[in-house]
Amino acid sequence: MDEKPKAPLPHLVFFPLPFQGPVNSMFKLAELFCLEGFGVTFVVTECIHRRLVTSSNIQFLRHSYPSFHLMALTDGLPNDHPRNGDRFIEVFNSLKINTMPLLKDLLISGSFWQPVTCIVADGLMGFAFDVAKETGIPIFYVRTIGPCTLWTFFCLPHLLDSGELPPLDTTNINADDMDRPVRGVPGTESFLRRRDLPRFSTLGDTAYESLQLLMKEGEEVPKAHGLILNTFEELDGPLLSLLRATCPNTYAIGPLHAHVKNKRSKQTVTESKCSSSSNLWPEDRSCLGWLDQQASKSVMYVSFGSIAIFSREKLMELWYGLVNSGVQFLWVIRPDSIIGENWEKHIPAELLEGTKQRGFIVGWAPQEEVIGHPAVGGFLTHSGWNSTLESIYAGVPMLCWPYFLDQQLNSRFVSEAWKVGLDMKDTCDRSIVEEMVRDLMDVRKEEFSRRAEELSELARNCLIEGGSSSSNFQRLIMDIRQGGSHSS
Ligand code: UDP
Repeated sequence: MDEKPKAPLPHLVFFPLPFQGPVNSMFKLAELFCLEGFGVTFVVTECIHRRLVTSSNIQFLRHSYPSFHLMALTDGLPNDHPRNGDRFIEVFNSLKINTMPLLKDLLISGSFWQPVTCIVADGLMGFAFDVAKETGIPIFYVRTIGPCTLWTFFCLPHLLDSGELPPLDTTNINADDMDRPVRGVPGTESFLRRRDLPRFSTLGDTAYESLQLLMKEGEEVPKAHGLILNTFEELDGPLLSLLRATCPNTYAIGPLHAHVKNKRSKQTVTESKCSSSSNLWPEDRSCLGWLDQQASKSVMYVSFGSIAIFSREKLMELWYGLVNSGVQFLWVIRPDSIIGENWEKHIPAELLEGTKQRGFIVGWAPQEEVIGHPAVGGFLTHSGWNSTLESIYAGVPMLCWPYFLDQQLNSRFVSEAWKVGLDMKDTCDRSIVEEMVRDLMDVRKEEFSRRAEELSELARNCLIEGGSSSSNFQRLIMDIRQGGSHSS
């Protein structure tokens, strides 16, 4: 009997924004598709590629999934460009001008190892849609921020017109003005204040350009065949409904880090024992041994993600606050996160002593494992979206100290919508840090732990067969197999 020729694998080309947070969630998404038998080409900038090869276990994906391919393209920036969050607009513009045309040429010339079924790009890169249109390849956008931010971005034109957005020039901002309620973001009227909105003023020279870019999201994102979000219906249902009025094909399939782990654990034993990582910094795993020696839920994990930078003065306030709280803490201080040189020299002796007794500091931690460790009872976080979801999934209450953009919104949702922590926004004073750490870890511990456990259970349930994220992912797979047409 003649064997039927095998149908080619559906093949997705991923194009994430070149920063740790977006790379992490897109990487998990890519692995989810690999587990479903899709081919994946993960396109990163050369700079990210170098760092992935050095610090991640990208080899795991290559070995586990022969249909996973990593490809590096230049971002067109000089080698010594810092490529950090403060220079985001330069990175973004260079991707548009230099990287996207290279990707387009590859798509047009059919130079990939397999014909391309779909492009899966970060939704901020509206320019990817033009390439999809020119090449006739369907495109799905992924937004690696939370729905609360995406929805607020959709409302930006209205917020700007109504004068509710804090001004770009901060010289005359009055603290009381910042506490005025915001009415222009439907679904959040009962708790959103001006101070919870993204503050473009903090972006300096690029404030205006960044605002213009994000204001276009409401027009750009709905152009794609679908929108993939790292969240789950039970957490963000009301905002997802609002987003779906503009983007009907919205797939909430998170928390991605746990979704992929669940799916992987159903595969062979060897694979389930491994774990993939897309770290851009080398992990210091010694902190896991330190955590093993601590009492259950006694440790405050402290990390401000991959982009935030702060002054030595703020570092000191945080440090004193933590040490004076008397709580055990594990703190990630990224080597590049403190402004100025030699900050490690001149640390007051009492801080060093307090840290020796109750703390542990690393340059980069295996965060998912840390948050899931039984000794961790709270997370002092900058409220990046990945960190927020990782904490919710693990059932760990948060003390939020947002740095910029979406984090201002995430932290308000943590404290007022989900009630799973406290928002320390805009204050960094040692006595406030001390008091709030104690509130989270001691005074209101029971209340927050109970709520965190409730949310964690919802997050776990949405991933089991028939759960919301699991079902949404199956629908997404079907829609992609049908060439981007909507199946429901
Ligand atoms: N992360 C990590 N180790 C660290 C600090 C952060 O693995 O020491 C990971 C964390 O688990 C998360 C990502 O880096 O997945 C940070 O993303 P997030 O969206 O929270 O913040 P961003 O870095 O984009 O500001």
